[in-house]
Amino acid sequence: MDRVSTQKTHLPEIAELATLEVELRGLLKDLREAEGRLAPVKSAYDDVSRESKRLKNRANDLDATLASSTANARELAVLQKELTHVRDLLSESEDRELELLLELEPREGEVESIKRRAQPGVGRRSELIDVIAKLQITLDDELVSLRRSREELVGAVAANLLARYDVALARAGTSGAAQVLEGRCDGCRLALSPLDHDRFKSQALDTFMDCPECGRLLLP
Ligand SMILES: [Zn+2]
Repeated sequence: MDRVSTQKTHLPEIAELATLEVELRGLLKDLREAEGRLAPVKSAYDDVSRESKRLKNRANDLDATLASSTANARELAVLQKELTHVRDLLSESEDRELELLLELEPREGEVESIKRRAQPGVGRRSELIDVIAKLQITLDDELVSLRRSREELVGAVAANLLARYDVALARAGTSGAAQVLEGRCDGCRLALSPLDHDRFKSQALDTFMDCPECGRLLLP
């Protein structure tokens, strides 16, 4: 149960997700900065573009008025003068618009490039979140089934032995009992002294000695 619980919080996908999120947070910061560099140029470009449109409309109106006008020469001269002035302003505005467009394009490119770089990571991130959720559900099911079989096994163990087991488990963690393999406690991996090993071998079948090191019950 401890192993499964640990596995649940130490999935390789969790580590990958953490690394990926650091990377994505870095890209997000870059994106915000690039957007910050883009925004003022974009807004200036939009303003100038609107102004060019307004001047162009005004020039067209003046053209039309001049073409169909029946006004006298003096009035026509005033209209003509305004038209020339509007066309000068329009030409300046369009120059400025072009300058801003040239500034705008690399900044837009920068924003797009960051978004493109982040795209595979964003996709992988949602995949990982999905995979982690599914694995954790599987491990939770395994934990439920382990708990159930533990309860069944607990019912078959004598109360005093169970109490000793629980004390050893609380002290050693991961398990409250261990086998002796080649003279070593399989729980803490330490070798029993020759005296302890003899005592272990000569104990009655239904008695359990504690590992002198870790306190786990040594299984015959
Ligand atoms: Zn031990």
